[in-house]
Amino acid sequence: MFIGHLGAGFAGKKFSKTASLGTYFMAAQWIDLVWPILLLLGIEKVEIKPGVSAVTPLDFSYYPFTHSLIGVIIWAILFGTIYYFFKKNYKTSIILGLLVLSHWFLDLIVHIPDLPIIPGEGLKVGLGLWNSFVATLIVEGFVFAVGLSLYLKSTKAKKRTGNYSLLGLVVFLVAIYISNLIGPPPESAEAIGIVGNAQWLIILWAYWIDKNRKAYD
Ligand SMILES: [Zn+2]
Repeated sequence: MFIGHLGAGFAGKKFSKTASLGTYFMAAQWIDLVWPILLLLGIEKVEIKPGVSAVTPLDFSYYPFTHSLIGVIIWAILFGTIYYFFKKNYKTSIILGLLVLSHWFLDLIVHIPDLPIIPGEGLKVGLGLWNSFVATLIVEGFVFAVGLSLYLKSTKAKKRTGNYSLLGLVVFLVAIYISNLIGPPPESAEAIGIVGNAQWLIILWAYWIDKNRKAYD
């Protein structure tokens, strides 16, 4: 899942106005921001196996530190705690922690059973929506659209840049999503790691959007 997580990030602004959209994006996508780093370090593993599901050629063979339920709970607590340490805002810290956690539950809907509950061997889960291309598009598109509409209802542009920067990002995200769905499989795990790290640009983009929009009280 990709844009669905960012849909959750957009929704964060509805529940607390104090953090930047960039911070909500970072929380919602946190474990997919750490994952490419661990891939490049060889700590977590992915294999390219076209046909493993209808949607993605990636076989997530080993990613206990970023994508086990226990791992994500620990990341969620860490993320919320660190935010609280700097900003002293209890409510926003909780929302950010829940956004980190939301990633695992959104992944649970789409992934084939490859998400570990605890790091190491043992039960792996996934409801397998990725076995249907159309169902994945509908559900993930819906989550993204709901999140975006909550964000639009919660904020308004300070000047025109506030709308253009947002529109540009939405078009960009949808374009990446579609090209991931219909494009050729990636060359290697290393290539996935490198492209994955480029997601930080999306986070920066969201910080820029936030500077140009203001939240309704
Ligand atoms: Zn993920």
